[in-house]
This record gives sequence, structure tokens and C-alpha cells, in this order.
Amino acid sequence: MDLSYTPEEEAFRAEVRAFLSEKLPRHLSEKVRLGKRLTKSDMVSWHAILNAQGWLAPNWPKEYGGAEWDAVQRMIFEEEACLAHAPRIVPFGLSMLAPVLMAFGSEEQCQHYLPRILSGEDWWCQGYSEPGAGSDLAALKTRAVRDGDHYVVNGQKTWTTLGQHANWIFCLVRTDADAKKQEGISFLLIDMNTPGVTVRPIVLIDGEAEVNEVFFDDVRVPVENLVGEENKGWTYAKYLLTHERTNIAGVGFSNAALATLKHVAASTQSGGKPLDQNPYFAARMALAEIDLMAMATTNLRVVSAAAKGQAPGPESSMLKIKGTVIRQELSSLLCRAAGPDAMPFLPDYLDGGDNVPAEGPEHAPAAAPNYFNMRKLSIFGGSNEIQRTIITKAILQL
Ligand SMILES: Cc1cc2nc3c(=O)[nH]c(=O)nc-3n(C[C@H](O)[C@H](O)[C@H](O)COP(=O)(O)OP(=O)(O)OC[C@H]3O[C@@H](n4cnc5c(N)ncnc54)[C@H](O)[C@@H]3O)c2cc1C
Repeated sequence: MDLSYTPEEEAFRAEVRAFLSEKLPRHLSEKVRLGKRLTKSDMVSWHAILNAQGWLAPNWPKEYGGAEWDAVQRMIFEEEACLAHAPRIVPFGLSMLAPVLMAFGSEEQCQHYLPRILSGEDWWCQGYSEPGAGSDLAALKTRAVRDGDHYVVNGQKTWTTLGQHANWIFCLVRTDADAKKQEGISFLLIDMNTPGVTVRPIVLIDGEAEVNEVFFDDVRVPVENLVGEENKGWTYAKYLLTHERTNIAGVGFSNAALATLKHVAASTQSGGKPLDQNPYFAARMALAEIDLMAMATTNLRVVSAAAKGQAPGPESSMLKIKGTVIRQELSSLLCRAAGPDAMPFLPDYLDGGDNVPAEGPEHAPAAAPNYFNMRKLSIFGGSNEIQRTIITKAILQL
């Protein structure tokens, strides 16, 4: 295994850097840098800039308008985008649904939906989890009953990220209540504007309604919106999860957070000295950095294997745990560095434009909300407890 970059990869990194410095709008990168909230139009505008460049869908084949980058190129782009404080790309249509459609959907579904994902005409959200069906996803109860050329859907989804912006939702629904848990599930595409769909926001601990409950009350869905075969949805759902869990280490996010933290610690006074000379703080910061370097090496191994066509194995569970714990620790240290200035809760500042003044240093107002928001990382995408169980069984063979 060779962990150094080839000249072509270095050239690619330079090209990405040049693009970001020219095309990433300053007002967007400032919002991301300061931990402010992004509006739908912020996210849509960055989506459009990447689409115009042909870089919106790194993992799609060229025939569908993708960039067809290998795993190393994707990682380089992700690292550079994080360091430049680019908005994150909403993954539901691009990197979750699209691979499922390409692998299991009909040609008509690919021709219809994929261009609309790229153009931004459709905003997708993910309807997997339900009350009582999160870690135990196969316990889901939302029912779809065939009625002529429609399914009639009844039930509830929860934790639907950014569902308030979406016009489509891909759902796991139960189409055979008598079969074994995993065998009676289907994968259905539902237009959120269909009568009977209700979206209700859930306000999280940071004060933002980033997630929602979605209710289905006799929602009629055309049968052509079924992906693949009826009752085979579990296979497609698991395939989608392998895509959800790629790049799970979030090395780019942590690199960017560490750079901010180092800058803040060097410029914050504590007991007459810069904070990065406080032994307690410096030790925690160093430990986080060492952990990050170790994880980045493991990540490179996985990425370099993936670039050679090998599927990531249970080491993705290690990356999920380490990656999320490191990001949480970095957000915790930034909060400590902000001290009492992190306490005022300033929704107007977080949601507002550039004219709303911050209190205290510029990194402080978003420090506590971001710290609270980061708690989600160890829960979603398969909670860290579940990942530990996977490691115990698949790696340690206990
Ligand atoms: C911010 C956020 C956004 C999300 N976005 C989406 C989305 O867009 N679409 C979507 O479908 N879902 C989404 N989810 C749901 C997410 O996938 C689930 O929260 C996750 O799978 C955990 O399920 P749960 O919340 O039902 O917790 P539970 O499964 O009830 O677990 C509760 C606790 O028990 C532990 N636990 C459960 N089973 C075991 C076990 N067998 N062994 C050891 N410990 C166990 C868990 O680790 C956890 O700590 C989101 C969640 C969050 C928090």
C-alpha cells in the first residue's frame, strides 16, 4: 500500500483549490466558517455552481452527468471543500437514492429522476426511521397496500432531515405484513405534494428544526414509483446504507475544525497566557490531533483499497466511531475556548444575515449550538453502540 499521492492526484488537488477560490461565494463560506445556519437557497446555489462545473455528482458515471471520480479524488475534493468552508452537499438524492436507482431502478426511473436531482428540481429526503424502528429498522410499520395501479400508504416516519425543503421522499414501506420482518418491505418513491402527506418540524437541542416527522394518511402512490421488486426493498435499503456510510470518517470536517480551534486557542488569553499554553487545554487538543492523524491514516487505507475496487468492510464502523468522537471533542474544545461567550443563545445571529453583530469573539456565538448539534453524529447513520457491536462480531469475532 502506498499512502503518498501521485502527481496526477496532486494536480487534481490544485485544480480543486483553484476552483474553490474562484467559484465558492464568499458570503457562503463565511456563513459556514462562523457556524451559521444555511438556508435552502444557500444550499441550492452551491449545488448549482457545482453542477455547472460537472462536479456535483462525484460518484456517478459520466453517462448520467457524473464526474466519475475514484475514491481518492472524492476524498481530495471533500478535504479541500471543508478547508475552504464550502456548504455541505445534501446527500439524499445525489449519493443515496441515485446509486439505488442506477443499480435496481428501471431505465425510465433513471432517465426521469437523475437529471432532476442534478438540476435541483427535486429535493429528496430519506424516509427510513420510524418511532420504534431506528436501530431495528426492519421493525418498520408504515404500510403500503396495493389498490389497482396505486399503493395506499399509511404510517409515520421520523427524524427526516431537511424534509421541510423536500418535494420527494424515498421510503421503506411494509407491503407484506405476514412475511419475515425483512422480507415484506418495499422501496417506494413518494411525491410529498400528494394529498395525505404532512410534515411536522422537530426542534432539536440547538434550537434548529433540522429534522421532521412525516405522516402518511391514505396517500395514493402510483405503482410505477416502486423501485425494483415488491418485497425486495430490504436489499436496496442495505445497498443505500453502504453509500450513506462512505466518507463517514469526516476527516475534512475535522481538519477544518482543528485549524479553527488552533487559531482560536492561540489568540485567546487564559490566565495571562494564550490558551494553547494551558497544559490541560493543550493536552486535550494534542490528543484530538493525534487521534485525527491516526484515523486519517486508517481512512487513507480504506480509500486506497476502495480506489482499487475493494468494498469497505467493518473498518467503516471504526471510522464512524472515531470520526464522530473526534468531531464532538473538537466542538467541545471550541466551546471551552469561547467560555462564557458561548452561552448566549442568539438565534437571530445564527439565522441572520451579515448585519447581525456577534457577541464576544466571532467563533463564540455558534460554539454552543454547534456543540449541541454535533451530538447527533454518534446517533445517525447507525449509532456508535451498534457500530461497536459490529466491530465486536466482525473484527474481534467475540
Ligand atoms: C439528527 C438526526 C437526523 C436523522 N436523519 C434521518 C433521516 O433523514 N432519515 C431517516 O430515515 N432517519 C434519520 N435519522 C434516524 C437515525 O438513523 C436513528 O436515530 C438511528 O438509527 C438510531 O435509531 P433510534 O433513534 O430509533 O434509536 P434506538 O434504536 O431506539 O436506540 C436508542 C439507544 O439504544 C442503543 N441501542 C439500540 N439497539 C441496540 C443494540 N442492539 N445494542 C446496543 N445498543 C443499542 C442505540 O445505540 C441508542 O443509543 C436521524 C437521526 C438524527 C438524530
